[in-house]
Amino acid sequence: MQKYVELLRDPMQVKPESLRAARQKSSSTPPHVYRLNYNESPYGLGPASQAALEEAIKTPYVYPDWFSVELKTNLAKLYDMKFENVVVGPGSSAMINMLGELFINPGDEFIFGDPSYEAFRDVANDYGAVTVPIPLDDDMNYDLDAMLAAITDKTKILVVVNPNNPTGTYIDSAKLEAFIRKIPKHVITVIDEAYMEFVTDEKSYSMMKLVKEGIDKPLIIMRTFSKIYGMAGLRVGYAITDPDMADHFGKSSNAWNVSFIGQKTAAAATADQDHVTAVRDINAQERAKVTATLRDLGCRVFDSQSNFILFKAPIDNMTVYSKLEEKDVLIGAPIGMNRVSLGKPEMNEKFLQIMREILADAALCEKNPA
Ligand SMILES: *Cc1c(COP(=O)(O)O)cnc(C)c1O
Repeated sequence: MQKYVELLRDPMQVKPESLRAARQKSSSTPPHVYRLNYNESPYGLGPASQAALEEAIKTPYVYPDWFSVELKTNLAKLYDMKFENVVVGPGSSAMINMLGELFINPGDEFIFGDPSYEAFRDVANDYGAVTVPIPLDDDMNYDLDAMLAAITDKTKILVVVNPNNPTGTYIDSAKLEAFIRKIPKHVITVIDEAYMEFVTDEKSYSMMKLVKEGIDKPLIIMRTFSKIYGMAGLRVGYAITDPDMADHFGKSSNAWNVSFIGQKTAAAATADQDHVTAVRDINAQERAKVTATLRDLGCRVFDSQSNFILFKAPIDNMTVYSKLEEKDVLIGAPIGMNRVSLGKPEMNEKFLQIMREILADAALCEKNPA
C-alpha cells in the first residue's frame, strides 16, 4: 500500500522503482563468501594508506576538514592540476547525485549510454530530467555518433563512462577526446573514469587533459577511491573540472560530507602509487586469464579494460548466477548476461572451476535430454 507517495516531490512520485531500492537482501556477506559482484578490490589498501587509516581511527570525535584541503592538495599534485580544479565528495555516487541537485531542471534532457552505470539514469529520473538512453552496439561499444546526433537545445548533461560499467568495454582516448571537442558548449559533459586506473592500453590517457588545457566548455571528470584504491567502504570520490564549475559543486550539501577517516586515508593513498601499479598489473594478468578461460568454455566475453568482465554463457544467466551462489561465489547478472569482478587469483580460480562444472553439466544435459 502506498500511503505516503503523494508527499514525494513530483519526479520521485513517478520515478521507476530503483533496482537498488527494490532489493530487500542485505548486501553484506560472511567472510568466506567471494564477492565478485561489486567490483571491489580485495587487495585493499597499500601500506601508507593503511597506516593513515589506523592513525585516523584514534580521533573519531573530530570533525573532518570541511574543505578537504590536504586531500585536494594531494590530488592536484598527483594529476598536475591546480587545487581549484579539484572537487571531492562522499563517494562518486554522491557526486553523481550532486549533478542533479546543481544542474537539472525538470524537462532537461540527459543523454547516457545503455547499458551503463544505473546511477546516472537514477539521478536523471530523480530530478525530472528526460532520459535519452543511447544503445551500445553489439560489441558493447558506445555509439558516439548517435550520442552527438541526440543532442538538442534542451540537452543539459551527456555522460560517458569509460571504461563502461557493466560492460568493461573501453573507448580509445583519442577518439573520446575528438568526440568531446564536438559537443556544443551548452551541454555539460561528464566522463566517469571510475575504472581508468585499470586500463592497460598504452595509448590511453585521462580526459583530465582537456580540463588542464582549459577547454572552453563544461567538462567534469569523475573518479573514485572505491575501486583500484580499495576504499569502497570509506566513501570518497572526486572530480576534476574547471575552477568555476568546482566552486559551484561547493553549493551542494554533499560537498562537506567526506569523513575524517576517508579524507586521511585517501590523502595517503594518492602518494601510494606503487600500490595502484601493483593492483593494475595483477588485475591485468587475471583479466587475461579469466577472459581466455571463459572463451575456451564457450562463453561470449566482451573485451574488458576494467576489473570486471561481462560475459554471455551458453546457458541462462540466472542459472549461472544461482549455481555460483550455491557455492558461495557471488557475481552479477545484468542485461541477460553475467558480470564477474576480478578477485585475487585463488578467488578467480574457484569461480572458473565452478564455471567448468556448470557448463560441463549443461553440455551433458544437452546430449542426454531427460
Ligand atoms: C563504482 C562506480 C562508481 C562509484 O563509486 P563510489 O563508490 O560511489 O565512489 C562510479 N561510477 C561507476 C561507473 C562505478 O562503477
